[in-house]
Amino acid sequence: MKKPFYMFTRITLLLALVLTFSQCKKAAKTENGPAANGVIKNKTFTSDATPGPGGGVMMQAFYWNTPNTSSWWQNVNSKIAAWDAAGISAIWLPPSTKGQSGGSSMGYDPYDYFDFGTYNQMGSVTTRFGNLTDLNTLISNAHTHNIQVYADMVLNHCSGGTLQANPYTGTNTYTLFTPLSGQFNRSYSDFHPNNIHASDEGSFGGFPDLCHAQANVSNWIYNASYSMSRYYKNTMHYDGWRFDYVLGYGAWVVQNYVNSVGGFAVGEDWDGNAANLQNWVNATGGTSSAFDFACFYAMHSAFDSNDLTHLNDDMLLKRNGSKAVTFVSNHDTDIIGNKLSAYAYIMCEEGYPCVFYNDYETWLDKGKMNNLIWIHRTLSGGTTTNLWSASDQYIDRRNGYGAAPGLIVYFNGTDYWQQQWVTSNWANRQIKEYTGVSSWIQTVAADGRVLIQAPPHAYSIWSVTGY
Ligand code: ZN
Ligand code: CA
Repeated sequence: MKKPFYMFTRITLLLALVLTFSQCKKAAKTENGPAANGVIKNKTFTSDATPGPGGGVMMQAFYWNTPNTSSWWQNVNSKIAAWDAAGISAIWLPPSTKGQSGGSSMGYDPYDYFDFGTYNQMGSVTTRFGNLTDLNTLISNAHTHNIQVYADMVLNHCSGGTLQANPYTGTNTYTLFTPLSGQFNRSYSDFHPNNIHASDEGSFGGFPDLCHAQANVSNWIYNASYSMSRYYKNTMHYDGWRFDYVLGYGAWVVQNYVNSVGGFAVGEDWDGNAANLQNWVNATGGTSSAFDFACFYAMHSAFDSNDLTHLNDDMLLKRNGSKAVTFVSNHDTDIIGNKLSAYAYIMCEEGYPCVFYNDYETWLDKGKMNNLIWIHRTLSGGTTTNLWSASDQYIDRRNGYGAAPGLIVYFNGTDYWQQQWVTSNWANRQIKEYTGVSSWIQTVAADGRVLIQAPPHAYSIWSVTGY
């Protein structure tokens, strides 16, 4: 969400930093390291990793203000085969139904939750992203490639209602919704304040704030046989869910929604405190993951402020890697300068990494990104052991799990090459560097010790040879 008042609300509630830095986006970020190109792995994946933590990689398949041409579903569809080949196993789509802003809406102003670009309302038949046929084609094609599709659910608020007299406010409010789909009609009592609540956990930008305690609301969202959750899952064939602005309502709503149809879920709990993220995941009964904003801010501090010890900061991925969706940037916030190091971090560490469309398609070296995705899917796995932690160097070891041999990732925050002796799990074996920055082939000593190196302001990633 990035309407100015959305932004302002969030800043007020959270971090003034975000506003400062988010205005600096859109410039291509380049790695400060040597020009050596990453080795592009041409190997195909022998099996599709399970989407979700411990397996695949998610693509956030949009950015703020994608072209206003109702052709975005077609554009994403054209990328599916290449993304599959690169190792992407799930895509997160923007809200796919009609918003108040009709054909120009990014979808975060939901009006008709069942109009996927088929009804002439809010000034347009299509959504900003296309029509129902395009969306069906995209989802079907993604499934052909074993790529799951996650829907962006905006359940905190609605927008575009008609003015009506509201007995709970004593004023006229824009709370009368009679969408052309004929589904989820709603009125003033479905919003706050009403006969049940004056308010809930949070509201957004003055939009009518849904009251999830009302039976009409819970029935339409997840409770009844005709619910949104069932329609999106069984008719649209969405596989999972990204819940927008979960600070705005109780975690039990997410829990009930996920329990109604299953599927992977992740919540946008915009909070840099890892304990708060963990508490929210727990409050959903473990039905949902959360975006790891703690990791996001820690990476910004570590990679952009010359103090790699910030990688020791508390993160959701360290508390519960199976419930952490890690990311480097998204449609709302983009503050990390050394993005390739940050992507190396989330691809090597625990958690379910999410790649931002613009980073992958426009701003960063796609060969290096594909290399990191390949490393995540092939080498990364198991528990984590920190081997070196200083402001100028940071080295972690993933200990391997199943078919994944594990790896050693080495971050260098200085202007020159560095090297370190570290202890690996691979006694008497040969290891190599898998991003292509170092041509060293090292033989590990019997006690596991081995010398590795890393380039300036970048990373190297090591594992046993043969992959
Ligand atoms: Zn309520
Ligand atoms: Ca709310």
